[in-house]
Formats: sequence, C-alpha cells, structure tokens
Amino acid sequence: MNNQTRSESSRRAYWTEQTESACGFMAKMRDYPVKECGETLVPLRQAVKDARLTVKFSDKQLAGKYDHIFYLREGLVKKFLAVAKEMNNLGWFLKVEDCFRSRVMQKCVGLQKSVFDQILKAVIWENNGKVPAPELMLRRLMAFIAASPKTGTHLSGSALDISVYHAGSLRPLDRGAPYQEISELTFMNSPFIPKTATHNRLKIRTILEKYGFMPYPFEFWHFSQGDAYSEYLTNSGKPARYGAIDFNLFSGNVTVIGNPETPLYSLDEIGVQIEAALSRLSKKN
Ligand SMILES: [Zn+2]
Repeated sequence: MNNQTRSESSRRAYWTEQTESACGFMAKMRDYPVKECGETLVPLRQAVKDARLTVKFSDKQLAGKYDHIFYLREGLVKKFLAVAKEMNNLGWFLKVEDCFRSRVMQKCVGLQKSVFDQILKAVIWENNGKVPAPELMLRRLMAFIAASPKTGTHLSGSALDISVYHAGSLRPLDRGAPYQEISELTFMNSPFIPKTATHNRLKIRTILEKYGFMPYPFEFWHFSQGDAYSEYLTNSGKPARYGAIDFNLFSGNVTVIGNPETPLYSLDEIGVQIEAALSRLSKKN
C-alpha cells in the first residue's frame, strides 16, 4: 500500500465511491424480480445442536431491545451446516451475529444509535465537517441499512451476519475491523485493511460461496442466498425465490409483505435522527 492510498483524501474518495455504488446496487435490488416460494424458516440453534457442530450465536440484543431470531429458510440450513462444519474442521467456529429480522426489528436496527451515529460521523467526515442534509444521509444509510423491506435480505430469512473465531484462543479472526464498524474498512474489498485481514476475508468468503452464500460487497460480514442479492451477484438470470416476508414464529407461516418497496424511513424521520445523533455526539466530545 503506497502513501497515496493511505491518505485521508483517498479514504474519503473510496468511501464516497463505495456508498454511491451501493445506492446503484440497491436500485437494482428494488427492481429485481421476486417469485416467493413460501418456504418456512427453521431455528438454527436446534439444527446446529442436532448436527453436533460448534457455532456461537450473539447474545447481544438487537438495538438493545429485541432478542435475535436465529431462524433461516429451511432450504438453506443444510448449506449453513456445511459451512459451519468446514469452519470447525479448520479449527474455527462461526458466530452468527444476526439472522432473520421482522419489519419492526429492521426499522430499529436502522435507527439504532451505535450504527446511525457511526454513519453520521462518517458522512460529516466525508463532507469536511459539514452536517449532511437528510437526503444525503439517507443515501449513505442505504449501503448499510435496508431502506425498504424489498432491499433488506434479513427480512427474507436468507441472510446471515457472521464473525469467525479461532476455536483454540476464542479470538475472532482479524478481518480488519469489528462487526458493525462503519467506515471505509467496511466494504468487502477495502484496500485500507492489513494484508492478513484481506486474506482472512477471502478465506471466509470462499467457504461461504462454496455453499452458495454470496458476500454482500459493501459489508464484510453479510452473506445471503436465494434472494435478490445473490441471484444478481451470481448473474443467475433467475428471480429471487426468497423475498421480504412476515414470519409467524408460532405457526411457522410465511406471508409475503405487500408493497415491499415502500420506504421504511421518511426524510423527516432521518432529519430528527440527525439532530438526536448530533446532540449525542456533542456530549461525547
Ligand atoms: Zn446483514
């Protein structure tokens, strides 16, 4: 890595280029055809237990108030277990950070302080200290947070956020940044992370891809299969079989979300959140 690459301005330019590229990606996802197959979701904890594999699940509540729903579409579970087994064979284990999200959970994730504040800080940095208008903030949020049910694959029960740990030391593999860090290091192919981290990202994604889980290019921890992201990324030409759904945990029923392109956040809401985040950030400094 040369001095040019390391410089602040190249980091800023990379951040802008990647987040803008994510907006283009999301526009494609919004229009991507979906032919929902209606398949149910099943609990991953039980599947892991039955397969006698080592997998950890995050015990941190989502947005500080929701227990995670570690359920995945039934048709993906065998493949998930194959990934987990391969990791175990390498002396590693998967930690599932997040899995299915309901609409309410998804909205809370988008506005949770830990994520929103990081994105706002990054956008202020991108704009040389200027607070962004809600429109720009929403454009940047789109890279990391689903702007509508249609563009968020956690709502399809087909996505996983993961970390990977060494089974011996119980330390995470270095991927250049922790889960949910939002910066120029977050993008899968970030040139600003150390070589070992690049290598680890590659090793991890190779295993997931082997079993059909496609890496999301704008977050190094997000993988999915059978949804619009993965069909588009593999250039399959097929419609997504998993779309945005409401899932009834008790009956196991899956219901397609109507008008899934409807935005989850209004510009007014983003404006209010910017003010709240600024007040939090000023107290920290
Ligand atoms: Zn994710």
